[in-house]
Amino acid sequence: MADLHDNYLDWLRDAHAMEEQAETMLKGMAGRLEHYPVLEARIKQHIDETIEQQRLVKSVIKRYDSSSSTFKDIAGKAAALGQAMGGIFASDEVVKGGISGYTFENFEIASYTALIAAAEAVGDIEGKRIFQQILEQEKAMAAWLLEHLPETTQQFLVRSKTPHTVAKK
Ligand code: MG
Ligand code: FE
Repeated sequence: MADLHDNYLDWLRDAHAMEEQAETMLKGMAGRLEHYPVLEARIKQHIDETIEQQRLVKSVIKRYDSSSSTFKDIAGKAAALGQAMGGIFASDEVVKGGISGYTFENFEIASYTALIAAAEAVGDIEGKRIFQQILEQEKAMAAWLLEHLPETTQQFLVRSKTPHTVAKK
């Protein structure tokens, strides 16, 4: 039977894999966008936040994991998550990308909400503080994407009906 710390470590590794997936997907989307500079800038800001989140989650893992298998496990987790969420940002079209991005941010919000409760249960005060800080960044990104979705959609539709204009990215 897995004990408290095993579960916590397992979820920490999930969170790290999630952030690696986030980086891949956000970079994919930012790389494709050409005509939506405001959205592109916000995504780039969140890429920087995501890389810092990876570092923070790894710092919590390092404190809890004495084994050498950590990063082998993380690689496996990332592959599994990549399959599960495969193609979420793969769409070449900006409106679908915005919807998918919002969905992924909410996945992160739920994950850190659970991790905060787990950190509390194991008495990891520093971990809890870190996850609360990350949670605020995920909430801000989710809120931003939702708030700007109408504008992105309208821009997309205007571009779509304009001749000789590429709308989708
Ligand atoms: Mg994140
Ligand atoms: Fe995020």
